Amino acid sequence: MKEERKQSVVLVPYLLQGHLTPMLQLGSILHSQGFSVIVAHTQYNSPNYSNHPQFVFHSMDDGLKGFDMSFPSVKSIHCMNESCKSPLRNYLVRMMEEEGDQLACIIYDNIMFFVNDVATQLRLPSIVLRTFSAAYLHSMLTILQQPEKYFPFEDSQLLNPLPELHPLRFKDVPIHVINNTVPEPLLDFYKRIHDIGSSVATIWNTMQDLENSMLLRLQKHYKVPFFPIGPFPKMVPLASSTSILEEDNSSIEWLDRQTPNSVLYVSLGSLVRIDEKELIETAWGLANSEQPFLWVIRPGSVPGFQCAEALPDGYEEMVGERGRIVKWAPQKQVLAHPAIAGFFTHCGWNSTLESICEQVPMICRPILADQLVNARYLTQIYKVGFELEVMERTVIEKTIRKLMLSEEGKDVKKRVVDMKQNIVAAMQIEGTSHKNLNDLVDFISALPS
Ligand code: UDP
Repeated sequence: MKEERKQSVVLVPYLLQGHLTPMLQLGSILHSQGFSVIVAHTQYNSPNYSNHPQFVFHSMDDGLKGFDMSFPSVKSIHCMNESCKSPLRNYLVRMMEEEGDQLACIIYDNIMFFVNDVATQLRLPSIVLRTFSAAYLHSMLTILQQPEKYFPFEDSQLLNPLPELHPLRFKDVPIHVINNTVPEPLLDFYKRIHDIGSSVATIWNTMQDLENSMLLRLQKHYKVPFFPIGPFPKMVPLASSTSILEEDNSSIEWLDRQTPNSVLYVSLGSLVRIDEKELIETAWGLANSEQPFLWVIRPGSVPGFQCAEALPDGYEEMVGERGRIVKWAPQKQVLAHPAIAGFFTHCGWNSTLESICEQVPMICRPILADQLVNARYLTQIYKVGFELEVMERTVIEKTIRKLMLSEEGKDVKKRVVDMKQNIVAAMQIEGTSHKNLNDLVDFISALPS
């Protein structure tokens, strides 16, 4: 713990689990460096205050009543950005009166783009937190700079390489495409959330050693200091739960009863949905692989069903003690458990980092956005996972057995162990993440107030 600093930072997270977690982790990291941390958040998906007694929380009226937020639309994001403006401005004005020059800066998720306007008006320095991989943001920026080079494309091109974006193919375009193109308003939206306005720096939940070339290219574009201080799951000094949904801790009791290095953990994160057919194919793939599994089926993740009732009749009895199905797991604890041998994941960036940090090799089943880019890097560049492109039970079964039982699977495991070692090195005193964090602390402390 560093000496007590007299400066406060205000954090403004975006409301989805995959965004809230890294912002709260960043808060813990900065708090351990002596900053006071205030979290200004939306009413929707309010964090659990009792898990973070060291923070001050401020809830903002988000204007989201009436929106279906199970999958936020562009319209809801615009509405939220408009609605939160006055509540944040009023709060900051009051704080600045009370705290004077103690307020160092405001750190925000790029999707909360209104923060930049508020900070500029109040002459407060603002910093952007990037919650994604640099590889994803680099691919987005490249596409947004010259969309005509990529769209529209033909179905026959889906497996062709994306120009300048190895190892991506047209089918991995991380943008929501409609009829193989992107409508102009959507392009404008993406441009908006990639614009950092007058923000003075960016913080990254990634490792410089892993994504250096991508970070350098992005920095050339944004022309502000970059601070890659990840991976947050390991940099965070106190691992309190950041979960919005209730974690089923019986998962850990069940894992305690399993053989070390034997279980496949299956989870597709907090947002994506799959159809009933994919659920059934996954169920049979898991059953036929004959490997133990812990499977998260999030309520609402299969439209039309609450949870496991979409499974074939008698499925849970059939797999018995070999399989455990829960609605939401304490994922970081699960991945760190000695019984875990592999992770069947949608490749969200948090899940990806959490898996690498625990040296767990992956089966990659990306569905949209950054997941598509992360999966390609994991399978083609870092080679720490196998790609699952056909959601049929025989293919799923074969891929599980390949990961858990084959020589190829052992090679993948070795590489993820090496990656983990590099992370450990980055966190040592001379390591890049450690050094970048010290630089960030000095940078924030020196900001004009
Ligand atoms: N998560 C969890 N329990 C679960 C499934 C997911 O705690 O049963 C957490 C996971 O640890 C990760 C986050 O939810 O931190 C999901 O973020 P990610 O970026 O992987 O994917 P997203 O949900 O944004 O698609």
